[in-house]
Amino acid sequence: MTRRPDEPTPEERYRPDDGCPLFSPRLEAHLVAVSRGEAPERGTFCGNCFTPISRETVTCPHCGEPTARRRPVTVVPAPIAAALRVQRQTEGRWVNGFAYVGVLIAMVLPLAAVLGIPVVKDSLILGTAVYAPLLLVGMRVFPAILGYFGDRKGFEAARKKTRAAWERWVVERDRPGGVPSA
Ligand SMILES: [Zn+2]
Repeated sequence: MTRRPDEPTPEERYRPDDGCPLFSPRLEAHLVAVSRGEAPERGTFCGNCFTPISRETVTCPHCGEPTARRRPVTVVPAPIAAALRVQRQTEGRWVNGFAYVGVLIAMVLPLAAVLGIPVVKDSLILGTAVYAPLLLVGMRVFPAILGYFGDRKGFEAARKKTRAAWERWVVERDRPGGVPSA
């Protein structure tokens, strides 16, 4: 339901096939632009997944929902926008956290090398000469490697929250007298 082969996607990782149609890259781009005041909040959005669509759209290119079944809306509902903020914050925390660990490794590893070699350890000049280049290389390598894993872990953690938010939204939406579709 969430996959459409004809949909152009710049970021493949935003298309996990887990039944949750949030967030299409276009919706994310829209919500980010709105939060920065760079785009108007109002527009035309799929009534199911809130992907920005045109008025002429009959089938959502992202989730496949026909506009005749669930009418398009003019504003993305607040809980959906909030879910994206949570997703992005969660991802950011993981990426930053892992990157910091990378910095720490980059600092501690050369220190261990210096302290582990008695000749080097006893000489300030020699110690610095060994520590500095190792630090420089490590600072480029470790934060990048750790950042890569932080990115993946962060996406998984964030995706879990987004799925939960989507499930809460669907319950709220589908209960009698729940959120109106327009
Ligand atoms: Zn849709």
